[in-house]
Amino acid sequence: MIKKWYINGEWREGTEYASLRAPYTGQVIAEIPQATKTDVEEAIQAAKRATGAMKELPAHKRATILGELIAQLKERHEELARTIALEAGKPLQAARGEVDRTIATYQFAQEEAKRIHGETIPLDAAIGGEGRVAYTTRQPIGVVAAITPFNFPANLVAHKVGPAIAAGNTIVLKPASQTPLSALLLAEMLDTTELPKGAFNVITGKGSVVGEELVKHPDVAGITFTGSPEVGIDLKQKAGLKRVTLELGANSAVIVDNTNITKEMVQRIVWGSYVNNGQVCVSVQRIYVHNDIYDIFKKMFTEEARKLVVGDALDEKTDISALISTSDVKRIDRWVQTAVSGGANIVLGGNMRNERIYEPTILENVNVEMEVSCQEIFGPVVVLHRFHDFKDAISHVNTSKYGLQAGVFTNNLTHAMEAAKHLEVGGVMINDVPTFRLDHMPYGGIKESGFGREGIKYAIEEMTELKLITFKW
Ligand code: NAP
Repeated sequence: MIKKWYINGEWREGTEYASLRAPYTGQVIAEIPQATKTDVEEAIQAAKRATGAMKELPAHKRATILGELIAQLKERHEELARTIALEAGKPLQAARGEVDRTIATYQFAQEEAKRIHGETIPLDAAIGGEGRVAYTTRQPIGVVAAITPFNFPANLVAHKVGPAIAAGNTIVLKPASQTPLSALLLAEMLDTTELPKGAFNVITGKGSVVGEELVKHPDVAGITFTGSPEVGIDLKQKAGLKRVTLELGANSAVIVDNTNITKEMVQRIVWGSYVNNGQVCVSVQRIYVHNDIYDIFKKMFTEEARKLVVGDALDEKTDISALISTSDVKRIDRWVQTAVSGGANIVLGGNMRNERIYEPTILENVNVEMEVSCQEIFGPVVVLHRFHDFKDAISHVNTSKYGLQAGVFTNNLTHAMEAAKHLEVGGVMINDVPTFRLDHMPYGGIKESGFGREGIKYAIEEMTELKLITFKW
């Protein structure tokens, strides 16, 4: 199937194409146009021309357009879920869950479109302010370039497109090369709405070509990027004075304090560790367990992880499927084998099932400097660490160069409060895994996990300019 781009409200053919393969079967599922710099320029100019029309749209109209999109998403729910499962290798149940969340994200955007407002400023609080009044508004910044990763090809796009439309901006979207189909399906849906022509454009191709061009272009006002720290940090350095939001990676941790371990808690941590094959920016990677309960936790966790069903992403029963690329499978195996050579124990897994699938894996006796612990593994591998003192557990979590979210299971209120205060992350989940996210929460990281916040209301702040108006009488 030969795909086309969506620029200026029209479907266009490319001059060069690349074959897109399904991660699970390796079979070609589409031919995707590869943009040149000229194509990117066209998309940016279309988005720039549409800024005037978007700025004129009243809030209720922007909300209506998002409502029309939501209706389409509900109608084409299963089609989008299957597209995600096929192109990303995401197990179908998880893909359906992603579509539910995508709808919720656009619903929040629809609501927030009507709540964008400023405040009045008491100017007479300063000498010289007598007889004056001031208020602020939030205005759209203009053209937003959205660059997205493969692991949530619909919902992470929604976290950029939803607030951009809600705020009255125009968009050039560059989806990950492995997951362009969900983005092109979104374009089909938006095409049926009353969104002004050119306000939403999708351009596909290599990040090194399309992304670079978007970041350097003077007509792009803001970059909203979700992806790896390496690429994100490089983009920020090149972006100059543009607004930049970076949602990057992590090696997220959960602390299991000396507490009653329940089956439900263990199942929740297994979910947080292996959902979407561990390819989630807030996947549980490091589990810090109190020494007194370490052995029982290990036993229960291993029993639950062993139950995960490995198979085809399109099979209803599958929990774990293909990773996004065969090179990632090899990288993960290399990291695991290096850890084992350095003295780590394999508690479960530790093998490639085949060139596309890595088995759910648990390691212990891991040195914190090993890649499996200190780098982002982005696969179905967790490491168990013991701790004796809760304060030490917090310090261990904080040794990470990342800081996205952390989870803590504890019944001890003082420990919960200490964790809330001292964990160096963007979000602390008490009695839950770091993987917990609802789509209106402020979401983002510190350190190498990013810069700025998403969660519709917060993303709108990043995508609008505060403007002051004063009156004198
Ligand atoms: P990635 O390789 O960094 O790619 C992300 C996007 O950036 C893709 O669209 C990619 O295009 C593009 N890109 C690549 N090189 C570029 C360049 N030089 N200039 C501009 N754009 C460029 O990340 P990924 O492998 O898709 O996703 C996994 C990463 O995303 C993990 O680190 C994960 O933790 C992170 N992530 C973070 C969050 C969060 O909210 N914090 C959420 C999800 C994922 P191509 O595909 O064409 O290379």
